[in-house]
Amino acid sequence: MQENNTLELGKNLVSIRDLSIDYTTDRGFLRAVDDVNFDVPQNKLIAIVGESGCGKSTLGLSIIGLLPIPPAKISHGSIIYRNQDLVLLGEKQRRLYRGTEIAMIFQEPLTSLNPVYKVGDQIAEAILIRERRRLRSSHLDSEVMQEVYDSRQPRTSRIPRIKRHIPKELSDEIIASLKLVRIADPEQVMERYSFELSGGMRQRIMIAMALSQKPSLLIADEPTTALDVTTQAQVLKLMKELMNEVNTSILLISHDLAVASQVADEVVVMYAGEIVERASVYDLFSDPLHPYTKGLLSCIPLGSKDETNLEPIAGSVPELLNPPKGCRFAARCKFAMEVCWQHRPRLIEAKANHKVECFLYGT
Ligand code: SF4
Repeated sequence: MQENNTLELGKNLVSIRDLSIDYTTDRGFLRAVDDVNFDVPQNKLIAIVGESGCGKSTLGLSIIGLLPIPPAKISHGSIIYRNQDLVLLGEKQRRLYRGTEIAMIFQEPLTSLNPVYKVGDQIAEAILIRERRRLRSSHLDSEVMQEVYDSRQPRTSRIPRIKRHIPKELSDEIIASLKLVRIADPEQVMERYSFELSGGMRQRIMIAMALSQKPSLLIADEPTTALDVTTQAQVLKLMKELMNEVNTSILLISHDLAVASQVADEVVVMYAGEIVERASVYDLFSDPLHPYTKGLLSCIPLGSKDETNLEPIAGSVPELLNPPKGCRFAARCKFAMEVCWQHRPRLIEAKANHKVECFLYGT
């Protein structure tokens, strides 16, 4: 964790404004993301943290355009990416951004990688799709890429047919992608299948595939949850290094505040579909304001803390099919006041660049 009291929020790659996302379920209407505002600046790592069901993954999917519509629906708000409101785009236009400008990696790489294709072939697919899109948008020709992409591939297959012998230009780019994610023997790894690799290696492959698209924004949804602690630390360190090397921004989605503390520039804490606190990682850890954030911090086993004294937050997240009238954290909050049960607090700037949604700091 680095001291960063003056987090610069001026140059934003993505600006989320008043965003609400609803789901229609068998049991009724559910607002999974409620009036959310935040920015992802250029070359910064923003972590969205919260318990399962707080809306953080729904938020990530909405940015990359992978929400299941229906039952999900963006009811209002905007997602401004490079002066373009992504919410207003149709599916065809969204595809021009997805995977290329905005890429995503998921929690369990084993289910994201195809076990019947070699690692090298899968990275080649990602590169070829990027080139195909580039050709479509620029109308330029690329002999090498056109040669290896076989347009006679049956429509039912998701994988473009790659010639048995991968041309050197493409092979070099695959090897460069693997070297980028610090894989020591890329020539050998590109010939392996995903099930032959460790969890950490598979996640590196997923990062390599995502970065081969040269995205401006990488959304990482619980990218280290399936990994052991040592590999988790390595992958997080790698992501942070690559952010600067390849000039991308990262939106890290995690249930684990400890993970965010290792790499984030700014932390957005979500609870029951709302942002309850937003601050630089230094401010959030040195002076947490919201009782929920304080509760999350008290659950982190630190070296100096006796792990038998960890204090879990009592109770559970409220049912979003029928959310409380007032503060959504009231039933779990030891500071709850009368006003908290009757009215919803608003996100206010309690300190410079430090926002909180709690009546303890004003209305
Ligand atoms: Fe607790 Fe009230 Fe603040 Fe909600 S608004 S977190 S109930 S003190």
